[in-house]
Amino acid sequence: MNPAQWFTEQVPGAETAFSLKIKQKLHEEQSPFQHLEIYETETFGNLMVIDGCTMVSTRDNFFYHEMMSHPVLFTHPEPKKVWIIGGGDCGTLREVLKHPSVEHAVQIDIDERVTRLAEIYFPELCASNHDARADLKFIDGIKWVKDAAPNSVDIIIVDSTDPIGPAEGLFGEDFYRDCYHCLSEHGMLVQQSESALYHMQLIGEMREAMSNSGLSHLQTLFFPQCLYPSGWWSATIAGKTALSAFRQQDCANKIFDTTYYNVDIHKAAMAQPEFFKKAFPLK
Ligand code: SAM
Repeated sequence: MNPAQWFTEQVPGAETAFSLKIKQKLHEEQSPFQHLEIYETETFGNLMVIDGCTMVSTRDNFFYHEMMSHPVLFTHPEPKKVWIIGGGDCGTLREVLKHPSVEHAVQIDIDERVTRLAEIYFPELCASNHDARADLKFIDGIKWVKDAAPNSVDIIIVDSTDPIGPAEGLFGEDFYRDCYHCLSEHGMLVQQSESALYHMQLIGEMREAMSNSGLSHLQTLFFPQCLYPSGWWSATIAGKTALSAFRQQDCANKIFDTTYYNVDIHKAAMAQPEFFKKAFPLK
């Protein structure tokens, strides 16, 4: 194996690594916030890497983008206003805008360069960037939420990098408290919550911080994501009030295409593994 032909992400702590065979490096730069790389791979299409961590590939991003958006949007009774904190590759924004009830979706990424590179190397993810309902802001999501008016959003999707560097504060109690204040009455936050195989301590800390902030109605959901550490990823929904029932009929009759998500996948993703139930018993 010639290391020059492979991109490898090592996972500290888990002492594992994931590699993709590459055809060529397409781009590399240091933005004001992070180190950005784009590769053309042999079998996964294009790959975006931020600070050495895999973010998005052409081939498998649909798992993540669909599961970060549709489960929460089909749980909220009537999502009209949605914010995406991070999400600069624009894939989550594209999924959110598939919902006809959404009137305004704001993507708030700290780093404009991520979006500019996505436009070049992942144009399919940026297909809805010019939708009249879409609004792209390039500022710190922590400041955006802190400055927002109460009751100004129905769903906040935190589609961020891992909790290091500029994303660290997006996993803290102060941030969740600010989210609580700007969410509407049945408001919900959903956040990527890493791997339940590798990162149980982080998931526990996140859940505690969410609960302490008032976003205490929690539901973690699970899905495959080959590109991310362990290949098994999660997202956690945190509601201001008890989470509403899954709008199953609306989901079954959805007027848009998905590649992974459907009614059965929604239900399966909500099932809690035994070790997870023991760690986080229902209150
Ligand atoms: N799917 C990815 C994952 O879980 O690895 C996340 C992809 S998305 C590209 C992550 C984005 O979060 C990056 O574009 C980064 O600029 C953004 N980000 C990190 N910290 C942020 C902050 N404080 N405010 C807004 N965006 C932030």
